[in-house]
Amino acid sequence: MRTPQQLIPGSLPLNEVTFGGHPLLRVETSIGPRLHLVPPASLYPGTAGRPAAWIPPEGYDRRQVRDARWTPRTMCGLRWSAMATHAAEIARAAAGDDDPARGDYVCPACAFYALTELP
Ligand SMILES: [Zn+2]
Repeated sequence: MRTPQQLIPGSLPLNEVTFGGHPLLRVETSIGPRLHLVPPASLYPGTAGRPAAWIPPEGYDRRQVRDARWTPRTMCGLRWSAMATHAAEIARAAAGDDDPARGDYVCPACAFYALTELP
C-alpha cells in the first residue's frame, strides 16, 4: 500500500461513496458547512453536468474531475459548487471529535434521500 507521500500527482480518485450500488459524489455548497451527496446523472437522464466554476482541486485525476457524469443538484436539491476534497472531509471529521454535535458533517437530508430515493 502506498503512503500519501508516494501518491502520483494527479492520481487521487474522486471523493465518492457507493450507496445501494450507486456512486455518490461528496460535495460542497454555498449553504452551510455540511457535505452533500450528488447522484450520478445516469439515474436521471438529461441532467448531466457539473458547476461551470468548479476549479479542479490539486492532486486529483483531471480526467475524472472533468467527466460531467453527475447531476447539477445534490440529493437534497441544492446546486453544488465543488467536490469536497478528502483533506477537507478529514478536517471536518477531526473537528467533530471535539464536539459530538458537529460530528454529523454530512447533510441529513441528502442521507435521507439516498436511503429512500435511490432505486
Ligand atoms: Zn444535502
